[in-house]
Amino acid sequence: MDKWVYEFGDGRAEGSAEMRNLLGGKGANLAEMSSLGLPVPPGFTVTTEVCTYYYDNDKSFPALLTEQVETALATIAQLSGRRFGDDDNPLLMSVRSGARSSMPGMMDTVLNLGLNDKSVETIADQSGDARFAYDSYRRFIQMYSDVVMGLDHHAFEDILESFKHRAGYVLDTDLTADDWKNIVVEYKKLVENELETPFPQDPQDQLWGGIGAVFQSWMAPRAITYRAINNIPANWGTAVNVQSMVFGNMGEDSATGVAFTRNPSTGEKALYGEFLINAQGEDVVAGIRTPQNLTEAARIEAGSDEPSLEAKMPEAFAEFSKICDQLEAHYSDMQDLEFTIQEGKLWMLQTRSGKRTTKAALKIATDLAAEGLISKEEAVLRIDPAALDQLLHPTIDPAAKRNVIAKGLPASPGAASGEIVFTSEEAQDAKAQGRSVVLVRVETSPEDIHGMHAAEGILTARGGMTSHAAVVARGMGKPCVSGASGIRIDLRNETLSVGDKTYQRGDIITVDGTSGQVLEGEIAMLQPELSEDFATLMQWADAARTMAVRTNAETPADARMALSFGAEGIGLCRTEHMFFDGDRIMAMREMILAEDAAGRRAALDKLLPMQTADFTDLFDIMRGKPVTIRLLDPPLHEFLPQSESDMEDVAKALNLSIDKVRQRTRTLHEFNPMLGHRGCRLAVSYPEIADMQARAIFEAAVEAAQKTGAPVTPEIMVPLVSVKPEFDLIKGRIDAVAALVMKERDVEIKYQVGTMVELPRAALQAHRIAETAEFFSFGTNDLTQTTFGISRDDAASFLGPYAAQGLIEQDPFVSLDQDGVGELVRMGAERGRATRADIKLGICGEHGGDPASIIFCQSVGLDYVSCSPYRVPIARLAAAQAALMHRK
Ligand code: ADP
Ligand code: MG
Ligand code: MG
Repeated sequence: MDKWVYEFGDGRAEGSAEMRNLLGGKGANLAEMSSLGLPVPPGFTVTTEVCTYYYDNDKSFPALLTEQVETALATIAQLSGRRFGDDDNPLLMSVRSGARSSMPGMMDTVLNLGLNDKSVETIADQSGDARFAYDSYRRFIQMYSDVVMGLDHHAFEDILESFKHRAGYVLDTDLTADDWKNIVVEYKKLVENELETPFPQDPQDQLWGGIGAVFQSWMAPRAITYRAINNIPANWGTAVNVQSMVFGNMGEDSATGVAFTRNPSTGEKALYGEFLINAQGEDVVAGIRTPQNLTEAARIEAGSDEPSLEAKMPEAFAEFSKICDQLEAHYSDMQDLEFTIQEGKLWMLQTRSGKRTTKAALKIATDLAAEGLISKEEAVLRIDPAALDQLLHPTIDPAAKRNVIAKGLPASPGAASGEIVFTSEEAQDAKAQGRSVVLVRVETSPEDIHGMHAAEGILTARGGMTSHAAVVARGMGKPCVSGASGIRIDLRNETLSVGDKTYQRGDIITVDGTSGQVLEGEIAMLQPELSEDFATLMQWADAARTMAVRTNAETPADARMALSFGAEGIGLCRTEHMFFDGDRIMAMREMILAEDAAGRRAALDKLLPMQTADFTDLFDIMRGKPVTIRLLDPPLHEFLPQSESDMEDVAKALNLSIDKVRQRTRTLHEFNPMLGHRGCRLAVSYPEIADMQARAIFEAAVEAAQKTGAPVTPEIMVPLVSVKPEFDLIKGRIDAVAALVMKERDVEIKYQVGTMVELPRAALQAHRIAETAEFFSFGTNDLTQTTFGISRDDAASFLGPYAAQGLIEQDPFVSLDQDGVGELVRMGAERGRATRADIKLGICGEHGGDPASIIFCQSVGLDYVSCSPYRVPIARLAAAQAALMHRK
């Protein structure tokens, strides 16, 4: 209670890694590193509770805060021998925001806080390096004016650029002490002119200004939007970290850098990162100078002549690489680190679990398990199932001709082609129109997130491997080439030029984030191979999993694809999809347009051999794995011609009058087709359709079993059942056909007849239906429609505002509504099992491929989930995680 400030430094800390909620991610890990005895500049964290207090109390601070900050500053003074606010012996601080997890929109870090016209002189004298002192001061004025006082940094950059231009300088490091002194004068003038107030000279004012600005940024529009999208409550708040400065800009033996303990693109176990000599803070990520490689190995691979940290500062490097190993083992995960070296001495400024591509995530998880740092189960739990999608990204066909127009850094793997666009708005608009674009920017910032989302690929002219564009693209799994310094972007004329070639907005280019190449035009792509790590992890997942994973497939191609992704059967074969091809649709129309049962039977006789061949193929491909076939489901008018000219064609082909066709189409019209004459209702009116399908299934089962030697046990599924008698009626027809085929063929066929539970009444009456139904498959698409009374095809026009106003948490057609629809699923499962203990239970709606819904299915005790082929790996992993979580 009433403890608002947590100190860290000198091998001790009041906080720890577990206190992330109170201290934010950055603060908690700074405390942890300090407790581990690592070299962390001393500082303190103002807790997230202060942020909550601030907004609950009219933007004021709790009573004891000032006192606790004073105490913490006194501790630092004791440790460092310097005092914050003492112009004759100044202590400089950084002020850093830090939410529970790093969040776009939060205030950028302010460095060198505490500098003023007097203390800068003291620092120049004490360090004997006036250049360093004034370089630090100009950085401080720019950062503080920008992030705390809201004066755009471009104005400062313009001053610096024109100064460099006049003096004939190229790099910032060319500027002398006097140059920086002059710049500082100009900077202060700019602030005074623009803000009509002098730049604050009192360090106390600066500090509280900084702390307040961090809390203000919690309610910045960008932060609010981000929280809304990611379901982060506003009352989490952000912490503020105030830390004594260490200086990477104190000359040639000072540096600053960022590192990953393993390669975040490939997962390879090798220290990976970048640094800059004589630089501070965000110079590395800002892409102002091209950073150097950390290790010799990486330098050689990159073909760079700039020395690596390993070669340039071997002692600091050795200590750093030891700390990397220690932190990785301590957190048992790949770490993303920030460090600064001041006159040869290493300081640690940040550690956190590193963002990575899915490919890297798989390699790192399997490697960490092999190294004994985590268990196989933990490895399975470490991978985000939805992220497996990334593995399915195409790469450029090595045989394709490449017209390389520029080269940058291979910032995020995979390749993509699209029209050039220069703004995020354009990217979004194009995406909405179904066009593919490559977003081309000088560099990206958090405002570009939506544009990066909409684009197929990203290209930037500036920025390294750890630039904003690179980090965000890897997280999204989008191909990205960063730092392509050879390209020139002209925003006014909307052109991209390289050498004397110019490309317009709308021209097609390809970015290859695996090689760093930018290519002209669209290029042939290859589907990716799944890695060995993927296979290993999926094996571990399969071992942990208790639910089976099947696929929704009706074509041989889909079935084969699903099998290669590890599907263990077909959970839903939609037979209607088989009736649209070639001459089948005509036979189908003939059946629908027939006057009577005899006419229908004649048309069905034409469909029977085709349907039999389809099923034989599927059984053959699935080799004895279970196959659930659903009887014809959609309303018949879906098969009929819509346009006048189509109707004429049909009339001609079937030798009917056009009036007849028109009239029949009109009779079949329904006001609410989704609640109309469909599902088992078709079989009730036209039992000969169900007869034909049942015969096709049984004959195919016999054929396939004879051909492959693997016995086939078809599962026949009756759709849209609401009352038991309708199910019984149709089951009776199916049983009769089965008996007939067995007699004709003189074989025994094992089969099951079950139902799709997709109407609330079926779930409510599951105990009755289970008396005769041998399996249930929850059809959660229709069950969601009928439970909510929302038409899935019309929902888009009105569900948007529901989500925007927080009336629903998620689109119930994407992730199962567990409280409502899920309750019906649970009830159906329980009631079904009460009657028939061994009843087989599965799910075959879109939700069968949604990780959160899969966890729910586990909790209900379903036997399997079924999803589209591309989601099978996701479902296998999600089911494994569901089983592991359930066990805990
Ligand atoms: P971000 O969340 O954007 O990574 P940080 O708070 O980590 O922001 O700050 C960015 C950079 O500022 C750090 O990587 C580091 O280089 C520099 N920095 C922060 N605090 C200090 C400090 N106490 N001394 C020196 N540099 C610092
Ligand atoms: Mg930042
Ligand atoms: Mg950082």
